[in-house]
Amino acid sequence: MKTIGLIGGMSWESSLLYYKQFNQLTNRELGGLHSSSCILYSLNFEEIVQLQKQGKWDESAAILANAAVQLERSGADVILIATNTMHIIAPQVQEAISIPLIHIVDVTAEAIQAAQLKKVGLLATKFTMEQPFYREIMEEKYGIEVIVPSAEDRQVIHDIIFDELCKGRILESSKQKYLTVVEKLIASGAEGVILGCTEIPLLIKATDIDVPIFDSTMLHASYAVKLALESKQPVSI
Ligand code: GLU
Repeated sequence: MKTIGLIGGMSWESSLLYYKQFNQLTNRELGGLHSSSCILYSLNFEEIVQLQKQGKWDESAAILANAAVQLERSGADVILIATNTMHIIAPQVQEAISIPLIHIVDVTAEAIQAAQLKKVGLLATKFTMEQPFYREIMEEKYGIEVIVPSAEDRQVIHDIIFDELCKGRILESSKQKYLTVVEKLIASGAEGVILGCTEIPLLIKATDIDVPIFDSTMLHASYAVKLALESKQPVSI
C-alpha cells in the first residue's frame, strides 16, 4: 500500500473528513482491520487565512511547499492539499517535490466528465469562485463550463465557510441559504453542483439537491485511496 501525504488543517474540520474517508475506503476494499497508511501535516489555519486575506500567495506557497517536502521525506508517495482554495499555489507545491500532487480540480473534473455533464455550478470560497485557477482548468483542460453565484450570494457562501463550517458550526439556517443559491444556479442551467470547498459536505448532502453533486473532499480522498491501493477500478464512493 502506498502512503498518502495530506497537507491539512485548512480547516482541521475537513481534514477529519479526509482521514475518515482514507480509512473507511481502504477498509471497504481490503476488509479485516486494514486501514490507510497516511501522514498528516496539519498547518495553523489562522496563519494561512491571514495570508489569504492579504493576497500573500507566495508566502503561503512557501509554507505549503515546506509541508510537502517534509511529507515526502517522511515517506509519502503522493501529496494532497486538503483545500480547494490553496490549489491557487498548487504549481509551486508540485515544483518543490518529486512525488505526484493529486490536484483536486483534475479529480473533480474527471468525475463531472464521467457523469457527462457540460455545465456545473460552483460553491466555494470567494478565492475559488473568483480567481481564474479553478475555472481555467475546468474549462480549458476539460471543456466544462463553470457558473458561480451572484456577488452577493458569493459573499454569503464564503462567510458561512469561514464563520461557521471551519469552526464546526453546522446550522440549518445556513443550509437553507445554500439551497436557495443552488436553486438559482440550477435555474441558470447548472446540470450539477460542485461542493468546491472541503467543508461544504458538512452542510450539504447529495439528498438535499435534485441535480448530481460533486463532493470535492470525497472525490479527492477516494482518488488517493485508489492510487494507494493501486486498484485498477475506481474505489466506489
Ligand atoms: N477548505 C476550504 C476550501 O476547500 C476553505 C479553506 C481555505 O481557504 O483554504 O477551499
